[in-house]
Amino acid sequence: MKLLVTGGAGYIGSVCTARLVEAGHHVTVLDDLSTGHRDAVHPDARFIEARVHDAADHVDGSYDAVLHFAAKSLVGESVEKPELYWENNVVGSLQLINAVTAAGVGTMIFSSTAATYGAPDRTLIDESCPTMPVNPYGMSKLAVDMMLTAQAQAHGLAAVSLRYFNVGGAYGVFGERHATETHLVPNLLKVATGERNEAAIFGNDYPTRDGTCVRDYLHVVDLSDAHGLALDAATPGMHQVINLGTGTGYTVNDVLDAVRRGTGHEVPARLAERRPGDPAVLVASNAKAKDRLGWAPTRGLDDIVTDAWQFAQR
Ligand code: UDP
Repeated sequence: MKLLVTGGAGYIGSVCTARLVEAGHHVTVLDDLSTGHRDAVHPDARFIEARVHDAADHVDGSYDAVLHFAAKSLVGESVEKPELYWENNVVGSLQLINAVTAAGVGTMIFSSTAATYGAPDRTLIDESCPTMPVNPYGMSKLAVDMMLTAQAQAHGLAAVSLRYFNVGGAYGVFGERHATETHLVPNLLKVATGERNEAAIFGNDYPTRDGTCVRDYLHVVDLSDAHGLALDAATPGMHQVINLGTGTGYTVNDVLDAVRRGTGHEVPARLAERRPGDPAVLVASNAKAKDRLGWAPTRGLDDIVTDAWQFAQR
């Protein structure tokens, strides 16, 4: 297929691009390099340096599908500067959707997030769970999910929103290189490499097994491969919303243990204050992904740590 990937110079977009190129697709990456890296774009993909806001200049009817990863994705930043999230994630996506509609591109796959659910009171989250995002990042992603529902109805778009839980790991030279790193696994690895002295555990008084928060950690390669399957499952006139997670939860302490095991380093950690807005438990039901996409994760927490560690040492 001929595919346009926005955000293909970022972490998840670069891995997805690599996997799609290797599967034989013709991929063009559109990225403004605001947070991504030019050298993270697979060498066999075509590259356009542009904002999604200017998608109309670059999208034409020769594309079979658009995969939309380009977005701002820092929860804390979104609370402090929500306007950045409306402008980039909402307005930018609207411009892209308009370009897709005008050009007659039939299929769109969107990077949505578990943050659209907010802090649900159920521990296994399926797609029927009410969406009540608790920060502007989650709100901006939910707004785009809603746009896609309406576009599918009004214009026959085949749309799939994939709601990611906690993504980690790497794929060879493609991995996580954020200027501002807030995520647990890469932060623990920065301690293992010696870039930082110690890790912070944000709270140990949550109502969980060991008091630290529980999350569903998914390998970026499994995540990427779901996008290839979503291209096949996309159906004109339908917007399908599908969670991507493993269905298994790990505490922050479990992840710390896995990083100690996987790196062979001590990784000193201290207890810190709770981070505002962190729900105690977020674990995906992936029954719908299995049913609609025929997808199942093949890698676990130890693979995430091993692959991210290899990448971090490069
Ligand atoms: N966390 C932590 N120390 C860190 C980074 C994260 O204790 O340096 C915790 C965080 O409070 C949450 C979990 O690890 O409970 C996962 O956080 P992350 O930012 O990786 O993903 P999120 O679930 O917020 O999307």
